[in-house]
Amino acid sequence: MRFTVDDRLFVLTGAGISAESGLATFRGSGGLWNGYRVDQVATPEAWHANPELVWRFYSMRRRDALAAQPNAAHLALATIEQRLGDRFYLCTQNVDDLHERAGSHRVHHMHGSLFQSRCVRCKAPFPDKALYETAASLPRCPDCGEPVRPHIVWFGEIPMDMEGIYRELGRATVVLVVGTSGSVYPAAGIVDIANQKGIRTIYVGPEEPLNADAFDEMIQGTATEVLPKFL
Ligand SMILES: [Zn+2]
Repeated sequence: MRFTVDDRLFVLTGAGISAESGLATFRGSGGLWNGYRVDQVATPEAWHANPELVWRFYSMRRRDALAAQPNAAHLALATIEQRLGDRFYLCTQNVDDLHERAGSHRVHHMHGSLFQSRCVRCKAPFPDKALYETAASLPRCPDCGEPVRPHIVWFGEIPMDMEGIYRELGRATVVLVVGTSGSVYPAAGIVDIANQKGIRTIYVGPEEPLNADAFDEMIQGTATEVLPKFL
């Protein structure tokens, strides 16, 4: 299969594609991430209870992501984007920057970006690769003095720019979903919307997702095995 300029491609990528670059996920490890529990580090409540722990967790993830490299699946998507230009849109659930480092430009991080932070009050995100691993190093806004938090959508928060996501979905002719479990809404709902609109839907992953029945085509295999075949 090969995508052409007759297609308008909407791609949704999930943790599976980053996992193939060696980046851990909460899933598949009993809800633990190197010993951290989701509810201790990735919720607004966790942030209020213990910002130091939250920043230690995201500093670890920054360190891991900086050491990781884009894989064949990231590179394949960047090549498809080169071919399709603005008829390509990539929505990712991943917060790492491996898509960008592979050469993708039209990337929307619906769950935020690991390498951005924002003041809890001023709210404007800014680039940030620093590690904050001690109480003394916790960042504060240079403008207002309030705490700076990771620019991440935590559990219980609303994904970024859903309006833009639905707009792109509305004009797609093909939806390609790669490496998501099909269990996290609203991302999992994207395929339902695609079906309502009669858009062709393709799933790529090593295992059947929970919503496997919703797809027109299921291609079983890892993202690094399957995506280069689209070139
Ligand atoms: Zn501020």
